[in-house]
Amino acid sequence: MYLKSIEIQGFKSFANKLVFQFHNGITGIVGPNGSGKSNVADAVRWVLGEQRIKQLRGASMQDVIFSGTKNRRPQGLAQVTLTIDNAGRQLAVDSDEVSITRRLYRSGESEYRLNGASVRLRDIYEMLMDTGLGRDGYSIIGQGRSAEIVSARDKERREMFEEAAGISKFRYRKGEAEKRLAMAEDNLSRLTDILSELEGRVEPLRIQAEKAKTFLELSERKKGLELSIWISDLNE
Ligand code: ATP
Repeated sequence: MYLKSIEIQGFKSFANKLVFQFHNGITGIVGPNGSGKSNVADAVRWVLGEQRIKQLRGASMQDVIFSGTKNRRPQGLAQVTLTIDNAGRQLAVDSDEVSITRRLYRSGESEYRLNGASVRLRDIYEMLMDTGLGRDGYSIIGQGRSAEIVSARDKERREMFEEAAGISKFRYRKGEAEKRLAMAEDNLSRLTDILSELEGRVEPLRIQAEKAKTFLELSERKKGLELSIWISDLNE
């Protein structure tokens, strides 16, 4: 699995559509201060589902959309597409290439696409889990991040090791299962409430049913007797 290309348009300082092609080996991006090198890493982080705007060095999510310059008008849409080689099927998608797209409009509307098909952020998150590529992965080490890792709290460092060891998927599934279990328990206690309320009504209903049965039997007998009286009256 390796990164094949990044296509950026309208994201941060990249107003025009720009495609970075990566090949085997190491790629370095060089340029003067403020020329947008870190914005490339931000684009990768963003398309992988980063929701924490602080990690993207902005104040609100709309800050990632090209905000214009003296000579260019702002854009209404930011779009990044990441293409990953998946010949080894490390990602659970049955294709040799996986492309992930994230799009954000200035109106706040956003969408994710996986190989062109519209998906939820959750699908991207689950697909990338335990690959080291996810938004919490360790594959993007930003400025100051290595110092952060060294000084991280035990819990955070543990999460990093778990991601590397491929355990976080199971921890995530466990969390999801626990949530479902709690929901099922809620439903169960609601059903028990309803059941105990209904149980209270069973005895009065049983008595009423007995009475109704007796009424039906007696009214049958009454009908027979009335008929006999009528016939004997007629005979007389
Ligand atoms: P350094 O070497 O100092 O770390 P860098 O090459 O990594 O710099 P970046 O931090 O990636 O540079 O880019 C900063 C530039 O991106 C700034 O010039 C800033 O004006 C521009 N920029 C950031 N967000 C936007 C935006 N939404 N619209 C237009 N330009 C933006």
